Amino acid sequence: SKASYNFKDYIRVIPDFPQPGIRFKDITTLLKDGPAYRAVIDEMKAAVEHLKIDVVAGPEARGFVVGAPLALALGVGFAPIRKSGKLPGETITASYDLEYGKDQLAMHKDAISPGQRVLIADDLLATGGTIQTSMNLIRQLGGEVVGASFLIELAYLNGREKLDGIDVFSLMTYE
Ligand code: 5GP
Repeated sequence: SKASYNFKDYIRVIPDFPQPGIRFKDITTLLKDGPAYRAVIDEMKAAVEHLKIDVVAGPEARGFVVGAPLALALGVGFAPIRKSGKLPGETITASYDLEYGKDQLAMHKDAISPGQRVLIADDLLATGGTIQTSMNLIRQLGGEVVGASFLIELAYLNGREKLDGIDVFSLMTYE
């Protein structure tokens, strides 16, 4: 049964990737297992069903792998958040800091309709910069960010503190 899953058993920790000192949480070892992948999406769905979500938004690339199946499971649409320069239509952009590095995110101007209740989904919450910037974009478009869902939360980076005012769900926590 799904209650018997210890999802951390499916995560591979890779030391010194992509640079010395980072212990990278590799989710590909979870994704390649069909029943485990299905089980994490089922659990994420159960955790957010009460939020009455209109659309799920996810940052590339791993936010697609989590956000799109979650949107399908919830029966709502998916809005991609991409690195700038990738989306073909009219966009808005915002800059952000990563745990390692710096980048810019973009969304199509018509990705979210004003007043829509939006859930942000990604594989991992680290410093929270990616999600803070995603919230900024969604709010610029008039969307209401009602929650954020992750497979993994790195609690020691305190990303959750940046996401005040919304419900934050994570299936696995690393202290
Ligand atoms: P944040 O913006 O919260 O500092 O970083 C989170 C983003 O970086 C997520 O989009 C996530 O995909 C990526 N990321 C950072 N560290 C890791 C990691 O250890 N494993 C994985 N899978 N993604 C990571």
